Amino acid sequence: MMLEPDDLLRIIDYAHEFSQKSSVATNPKIYLADSIGYYNLKEISIKEKVLGEEDAIWPGCGAGKSGFGILHNGDIVPCTSLRNENYIQGNIRDTRLIDIWNGGFKQFREFSASQLKGFCSDCMYSSICLGGCANTRYCVEGCIESENKYCLYGVMVKKELNKLLRADNDYKLADIKRQISDCIKSDNYQLLIAYIYEILPRYLSGTEIWIYLMNTLAFSYFKIELFEKTLEVCQQVLKNDSTNLDALKGYGLSLYHTGETTTGKQILFDCINNSKNSCSDIYSDLVNIMRIEGNESEAARLIAEASKKYPDFLIKRGY
Ligand code: SF4
Repeated sequence: MMLEPDDLLRIIDYAHEFSQKSSVATNPKIYLADSIGYYNLKEISIKEKVLGEEDAIWPGCGAGKSGFGILHNGDIVPCTSLRNENYIQGNIRDTRLIDIWNGGFKQFREFSASQLKGFCSDCMYSSICLGGCANTRYCVEGCIESENKYCLYGVMVKKELNKLLRADNDYKLADIKRQISDCIKSDNYQLLIAYIYEILPRYLSGTEIWIYLMNTLAFSYFKIELFEKTLEVCQQVLKNDSTNLDALKGYGLSLYHTGETTTGKQILFDCINNSKNSCSDIYSDLVNIMRIEGNESEAARLIAEASKKYPDFLIKRGY
């Protein structure tokens, strides 16, 4: 029997209810498998009861990193669930275990969030989670780089997304803007990213609405700290509109956060110096950067300069 991803919602509700009712002395306790999905409040609460607060948050799969499996014939695999021949690292009848451990598991130890596809590649937890249980991804989609469709977090976001989508596909711009604004007000940037990807194919690249959606997408990626993705989206906007201030700002900020700090800051300063539009939020971003770098005198200079240009700067920005 194969469950559908949505079935996880009923399972977690049942498990949570059971777990809440059980006292410390009650048996059986509920131990959730690693493959049920991650970063869901109910899942965390169930795990807290049996594992304690510190171990209740999924730290990513340890297959091939902190553990391995030995099959009946001596084959060494990253995890006893992941036994496909592509993942066998050696056999203890031929090679010493310590040599297999030291020389193998490269694919697992070097696996990064940037290899993930689908929803996992846009997920705010991807750099910690790395897509969750590798075997779930392999069994469902045939490769460990694929999206984990059996993740509670992903299932919950998709459920919320379905509430936003229209069955008749008849979207009005005002409705889209309202839904985007609602997501921003509730800080639900993960949902906003999924929503924009549904809406975006309706518009030709380079049109005003496309640029608005792309800039909102870049902003959302930035809010959940997926800076490489912010960079990619800003670059796409700038290909279509090289002077777009929001995209330039996102580009500068994401460069800064991906390690190109000098170029990133220079782009932000250029925005301030060259743009005729209001740049008060860019001043604010630069002030934050200067403070991160411990450069209080430059932060103070920027605040003074911005206050001269924008009289309400101090009040609006809360300095
Ligand atoms: S969606 Fe993917 S990356 Fe995000 S928490 Fe779930 S398994 Fe992990």
